[in-house]
Amino acid sequence: MPDSIPQLEQKVASAASVTEKVDALNGLAWEVRRHDIARAIDLSREAYALASESTGGDLSYPTGAADSLSNLVIFYQIQGSYEDGLSAGFEAVALCETIGYTTGLPKVYRGLGNLNNLLGNYADSLAFHLKSLQLSESLGLSEEIIRALNSTGACYSELGEYHKSLELYQRALTLLDQENIPPLRAQVYNNMAMEYLRLHEFDAALKHALLSNNLYHQLGDPAGELHSLGTLAEVYIDREQYDEALDCLQKHNFLAETTGYRWQFVLAQILMARSYNRKHMPAEAIPFAQATLAMAEEMKTREMVYKSHKELADAYEMQGDFPKALYHFQLYHTVRDRMLSEENARRVQSLRASYEIRVAQQEAEFYRREKERIEDQREQDRQYFERLAQMKDDLVSNASHDLKNPLTNILLFADLVRGQIPPDSSEGHEYLRLLVAQAERMQALISDVLDLARVETGRAMTRQVQSINELLVSALHEQEYAAEQKGLLIDFQPIKPDEQAALDPQQMRRAVNNLLSNAVKYTPKGGSIRVWANAKSGAVQVYVADTGIGIPANDLPFVFDPFYRVNEKQHLSVEGTGLGLAITRSIIQQHQGEIAVTSTPGKGTEFVISLPLAEEAQLAL
Ligand code: ADP
Repeated sequence: MPDSIPQLEQKVASAASVTEKVDALNGLAWEVRRHDIARAIDLSREAYALASESTGGDLSYPTGAADSLSNLVIFYQIQGSYEDGLSAGFEAVALCETIGYTTGLPKVYRGLGNLNNLLGNYADSLAFHLKSLQLSESLGLSEEIIRALNSTGACYSELGEYHKSLELYQRALTLLDQENIPPLRAQVYNNMAMEYLRLHEFDAALKHALLSNNLYHQLGDPAGELHSLGTLAEVYIDREQYDEALDCLQKHNFLAETTGYRWQFVLAQILMARSYNRKHMPAEAIPFAQATLAMAEEMKTREMVYKSHKELADAYEMQGDFPKALYHFQLYHTVRDRMLSEENARRVQSLRASYEIRVAQQEAEFYRREKERIEDQREQDRQYFERLAQMKDDLVSNASHDLKNPLTNILLFADLVRGQIPPDSSEGHEYLRLLVAQAERMQALISDVLDLARVETGRAMTRQVQSINELLVSALHEQEYAAEQKGLLIDFQPIKPDEQAALDPQQMRRAVNNLLSNAVKYTPKGGSIRVWANAKSGAVQVYVADTGIGIPANDLPFVFDPFYRVNEKQHLSVEGTGLGLAITRSIIQQHQGEIAVTSTPGKGTEFVISLPLAEEAQLAL
């Protein structure tokens, strides 16, 4: 026997800890729900507030909070506040999932299933009930399985799948043979009776209604007994056993009056009216139907209102009072039609809402998949480029051996052959000179191609903080001799004060050198070369200008492309691979810098490199 309400109130008052108090409040709320749903809701809210007070970021009693929410789902349903019930349910699901309170979930799912059923979302309702069933099965929670079978059965019944629901109830009964939970057994019997009644299997209906009623009676559960008496009465009415029905309803009436369950009292009245009408005793039926009508109007339960009008119409018709019969018959139709059309409108509305939610979910799912697909594609591309880069690396390192070594050997053997050619064989020496020149060109080309490939992979860089002036001086040193040979003047203006940049000194020297060597190569004797630098807004600019042959405007955009050479005699007569500027640009780009060129043919060319200066953090390295 569960504790009585005063006992539970006592427990709440004497609770020594938060957990005890929350449990006591939840227990009390559960018991008072049939008498005072508003109080049950208040108590649950109080329990929830207490259990979710936070201590150091954690809820003080997380499972207690989840239990309160899960009760609220049911209480809001009883109260008719379906939306509140749904939000309590979703909050409960989230909480149970967060705190890993899986065993609390089947009850919440069941509550959500019932709410959706009432809102006309039958598909969602069935989904929640099945979820509750699956979860309780996988957790092996026998009682929850039985409850889930019972409520899933009721859901199928709502969908008109009476055989399916009977099958589930039957499974529940089999499980109940092992688990001794009489109130649940009584409930299952009652549901089965209703099902058989719908299937017009009146004997089976009667059998189960009686089983249910006896069990509830033995249990001393007045709410359950009232429920089963109502079912039993309906079964008797359909079996045309009106006296038995009335007998049942007398008991029902008495019990409803003593317990104060008003709703059940109304139900008894209408069934009385129906029984008398079927017995062709309209005079007896009318007072019951009128009493029902009055109470139903007061309670604003339109279903009962139109059912009362129906019984009144039938009764007056039997009495031959056609005007009254017509009056009630019209009201029966008006109220019923309005209610059904409102119900339909509500169902349509909730169908639309669930349709919209489903569309939104599908869209979200679509974008999620699309995002995944793009990420997959990106990953594939990344792997592809990684493989390509690897192939390029392999090629570069293999080619350096396979191409460079034979050439070195050719030049070595050419040297040896030189000693073997008679000194007077001018032809022999000319051929050898050509051979060496060709081999050296090839060597230069291979070396440039490999350098470009290596720089482009960006892997060969080792940066360090470097003074700009020092860098320029060391590059100039390398070209001094060639410039002198051609009688070119070099003018260098160091940057003042000196600046520092984080760069790979060897590579950057190579970049500047390429510009200087071009200046030397493409400036005729007597010309001059100017090198200077300045710094502004976090970057340093290095200029290399000459007074040489210049570059035609049409060629300017392409001089940085690999293998590009200006197709003019003056240019082609100078030895070159067409790779120097491509290498330079690649090195500058690897340093997050930029390079630009301006030129006037016949007057000269000016290159400018712009490099980011080292940041404070890098200078500290
Ligand atoms: P190359 O090895 O041919 O010098 P580069 O890539 O260094 O290759 O230069 C590409 C082309 O740009 C050269 O062939 C030349 O025609 C032109 N060029 C580069 N620098 C200068 C310069 N300072 N003056 C005139 N023309 C130049």
